[in-house]
Amino acid sequence: MLFDTAVDQMKGNILIIEDEAAIREMLGYTLMKDGYFFREAADVEQARPLIMDNKPDLVLLDWMLPGMSGLDYARSLRNNPETAGIPIIMLTAKGEETDKVRGLDSGADDYITKPFSTRELLARIKALLRRTLRDDQQGIITVDGLTLDPATHRVAVRNRDIRISPTEFRLLHFFLTHPERVYSRTQLLDQVWGQNVYVEDRTVDVHIRRLRKILAPFDHDKFIQTVRSVGYRFSTH
Ligand code: CA
Repeated sequence: MLFDTAVDQMKGNILIIEDEAAIREMLGYTLMKDGYFFREAADVEQARPLIMDNKPDLVLLDWMLPGMSGLDYARSLRNNPETAGIPIIMLTAKGEETDKVRGLDSGADDYITKPFSTRELLARIKALLRRTLRDDQQGIITVDGLTLDPATHRVAVRNRDIRISPTEFRLLHFFLTHPERVYSRTQLLDQVWGQNVYVEDRTVDVHIRRLRKILAPFDHDKFIQTVRSVGYRFSTH
């Protein structure tokens, strides 16, 4: 089909969920001009069938939406195994550090505060897609009953699937492939988020906390060790 070919040649398929028509249009225009395929929804109700119909490569999700909030929707996407692996960038007018942490805690992979430049937006989209796609090119890793499959983006403990967001996935992937060494927050940012990043060191702590929470029911959180005043280490000893 001509349409599918056209989409395949695009850089990615992005779903915009934003209730303000002017911002939605600006986002759509920016994405289209940069070679992305996009679809748009004004609220969660409109977004649901679009996501089920064709899984996007990334979601731009406004925090303040009529009906279900972007924050609650991010959580619900993460809780559904079908959608848990979709990268999410949260868009918000809130700029407080506590809001940022709440946004990331809900399951978003990145966070951008309005008003933002289109350049910054595109850089963040590119960086998030790059680290998501890069994961797909490696083999299955198993450590102590914990299995990570980069091709399917699945993590399982003793064959039980675990729901995990793209950033935690990538962080866990890095730890599993670099065990027994201590990494500073800055090193983890470089390795896991990439060098072209706008995130602060503290973001690492948020994602470490989320990863530990995911692994805690299996008692695997103890593998992610805090090395005081240095950083973190993955160790099975
Ligand atoms: Ca809004």
